[in-house]
Amino acid sequence: MSQLPLRAQLASALGRTAATLSRATGRGDGSVIGGRVGLMLEPDLLRKLASDRKLALVSATNGKTTTTRLIASALMELGEVATNAFGANMPAGHVSALSGAKHAPFAVLEVDEKYLPEVLDTTNAGIVTLMNLSRDQMDRAAEIWLLAQKWRRAFAGKPAHVIANCDDPLVTWGASTAARVTWVSGGQRWREDSWCCPECGGPLDRGGSREMGQQGSVHWACRECTFHRPEPDWILDGEDVIDPHGRRWRLDLQLPGEANRSNAAIALATVDAFGLDPARAIPRLRTVASVAGRYTTVERDGRAMRLLLAKNPAGWLEAFEVSDPRLPIILSINAQGPDGRDTSWLWDVDYRILRGRPVFVTGERRLDLALRLDVAGIPFQLCDSFDQAVATLPLGRIDVIANYTAFQQIRTEFGRAV
Ligand SMILES: [Zn+2]
Repeated sequence: MSQLPLRAQLASALGRTAATLSRATGRGDGSVIGGRVGLMLEPDLLRKLASDRKLALVSATNGKTTTTRLIASALMELGEVATNAFGANMPAGHVSALSGAKHAPFAVLEVDEKYLPEVLDTTNAGIVTLMNLSRDQMDRAAEIWLLAQKWRRAFAGKPAHVIANCDDPLVTWGASTAARVTWVSGGQRWREDSWCCPECGGPLDRGGSREMGQQGSVHWACRECTFHRPEPDWILDGEDVIDPHGRRWRLDLQLPGEANRSNAAIALATVDAFGLDPARAIPRLRTVASVAGRYTTVERDGRAMRLLLAKNPAGWLEAFEVSDPRLPIILSINAQGPDGRDTSWLWDVDYRILRGRPVFVTGERRLDLALRLDVAGIPFQLCDSFDQAVATLPLGRIDVIANYTAFQQIRTEFGRAV
């Protein structure tokens, strides 16, 4: 790639120094502070760092970090890849990721869904990958509809090739102004935010999936206008992905659950746009066993705990699907900044699936979750701390579901080695 202008080089180098200092003083991985310093010195740094690379942006409410990781892992088959592996998904994190791999010809950036228009505009990315849109803590249907509308404006008139999940009506609507779209049938697990047509507000009819034998993928169409599900180019079909040539590929991922198979299907369609065939990409996808601590099993005092992250109602559904119903489960809830301070979104989750399992509730906002479970009629045990919950449990395997900062606290207890 071509040489950065001197000012951008300096900003990039100082940003990296700040990141190193931040790590050295124990203030996290440094990717955000480093990027902030760089952007302060050179506001145009992200544009400069992104130019001359083949770049994909990845956005969604859920699965961004995992899908970014899957795409980056597959692309390593083609060469060096710059990526924000730590989930720092706003422009400062992007600057840091790109400065850290200045000569990588490929880049994959996870982008916060609200920042997508700005980052697309700045980086002029050639590929944008979109999986799902649903309420995130206090967001409600009207807010995510506005977000999809901003995506539409951002894509209109740009050359970006969008890879989008056509089983999510709102994502389909958000993507459909793009110059070119590859549609992937990746399924939709959370439907509470897409009963209405985003185009006209009419009711969406759904059906037809079971007869086609396609797990999770569902045809949908508006009853009152012409808006309907586009014909998919790629299809997730149970354990397999069917590519646009009709070839069937067995995924065999280490990552568990249907949500991750959907992420993998979208990743395959994305790397195909880079010219990478599934035959070369799939073995790379299979090497991914955990992503930023998610799905990792950690050991303590004879207990093997698998860590699952659930930041919003759709995320809880995905975690429940992966969780083993025979095992005891620890649920940990905080309400710090990144979690959303208001925990009323817990009322959107149907916890009745936990009935019959030993349930342990902890975290700073354990009483909020306790009330929710009590109303749902789920017996549970309240624990003052994660350690107390672990000590109360019998030896053996345990599932842990935590929201964002609760998850990070548990990870930190285990030295973030996971
Ligand atoms: Zn309609």
